[in-house]
Amino acid sequence: MKNLLVMKFGGTSMGSAERIKTASKLAHEQLEQRPVVVVVSAMSKITDLLLDTLRRAEGGDSEAVEANLRQLAERHLLAAGELLSGPALDECVNAIEDLVAEFSRIVNGVRLLAEGPPRAIDEAVAIGEQLSALLMAAHLQKKGVRAKAVNAREVIVTDAVFGNATPLMGPTTEKAARVLRPLVNEGVLPVVTGFNGATPDGRPTTLGRGGSDFSASILSAALDAEELWIWTDVDGIMTADPRIVPDPAVLDEVTYREAAELAYNGAKVLHPRTLAPLVERQIPVWSKNSFAPEKPGTKIVPEVKTPPGPRAVTSMAKVALISMEPASAEISGTRLMGRALDALSSTSAELLAITSSSYRQSFCFLVRKEELSRAVEALESSLSLELAHGYLKPIDVDDNVGLLAVVGEGMRGAPGLAGRIFTAISREKVNIIAIAQGSSELTIAIVVAREGLDKAVRAIHSECKMGELARRH
Ligand code: ASP
Ligand code: MG
Repeated sequence: MKNLLVMKFGGTSMGSAERIKTASKLAHEQLEQRPVVVVVSAMSKITDLLLDTLRRAEGGDSEAVEANLRQLAERHLLAAGELLSGPALDECVNAIEDLVAEFSRIVNGVRLLAEGPPRAIDEAVAIGEQLSALLMAAHLQKKGVRAKAVNAREVIVTDAVFGNATPLMGPTTEKAARVLRPLVNEGVLPVVTGFNGATPDGRPTTLGRGGSDFSASILSAALDAEELWIWTDVDGIMTADPRIVPDPAVLDEVTYREAAELAYNGAKVLHPRTLAPLVERQIPVWSKNSFAPEKPGTKIVPEVKTPPGPRAVTSMAKVALISMEPASAEISGTRLMGRALDALSSTSAELLAITSSSYRQSFCFLVRKEELSRAVEALESSLSLELAHGYLKPIDVDDNVGLLAVVGEGMRGAPGLAGRIFTAISREKVNIIAIAQGSSELTIAIVVAREGLDKAVRAIHSECKMGELARRH
């Protein structure tokens, strides 16, 4: 659709009546110039609250469940009271109460079963976005905009991997044409729930935590949007985390690949899967700050004009390294690794890095700390015979590590760069535990001792002059 703009507002940009007013104003301004589709996250911390409620229900903690339900209702009723008045307020209050009742019905089921089936959980957590979409649409209507809240269940079609579903782009494109396009053509502003979808047979799914960015990019591709603007609470994609580095800068442009690598390696500004649907149609994305909308933000595009080289450094502190080693050289490390990967793929644990040494055929996997116990359990159970018979040394876990990643297009072509990076880290006396350059030429991932992680990030940021280079452009 020519000149369609998709705008996505994250949790902090929807976090209160005040924030919803700002978001609505930003959308309204654009709507006066071109067609717009809005995608919203739940109000900040609401998804956590919903998940906590479901967990408490599983554990039978009725008191905590009741307190959470009250908090859920109060937060949205308070915002509605500040945004609306008269019959519009009454209508919105009823709709909020209905959604809270729906959530509470699922929570009750979970409490009775003492277990939350994944699809029930997905149906329940998606209610956070329904509540925020409702508030924003109602507020826009009050401002005279023909806005309509749309549940993405009616539009985004996914596979049945509950909690981390993947869109089926063909059926999604058809549904977007049927459900959203007519609204847009009539001048209506759809306010679509982020984060959720449904299987082809209509079972509710979600796209993984932080998945509203992904929803917005899926819809941008399905509707062939001209641009996607992602509104957050930071100025854009930065050369490093400002909580770690004293002088980071906002990058004015990055490539899809750089943005994806940064997101996969711990930069929180974008959901890692966001870029994939946009590549084919080359739809540009802006990462912008709704708390400072006058700032330009970062533009994410297929190619950039900036010279190649390291542009940003990210880090992840909550990771652990799982090391495995055959007990003797006669045992095939390759086969063991194959078995290990098989076991890991049966859990949903994501491998952040894999390294191996051919000499002792040992290998290690880096995983998120929250996924560690699941990963180790899967490995130990599927390799229990090898462990029992002593073919495999006991699996070793080191959770005193951190991952950092240096990212930039064309880095591989820069001679001596890896050496400079390692020297900068060693100068700080930080122990390098593993290195994974992988096959992507734009990332060097380094596992270091946890206590040296921040120091190493600062050392690399300054050695590569990332802040200065970004400011110069
Ligand atoms: N509300 C969901 C979450 O917190 C999705 C999102 O905000 O992107 O994970
Ligand atoms: Mg987010």
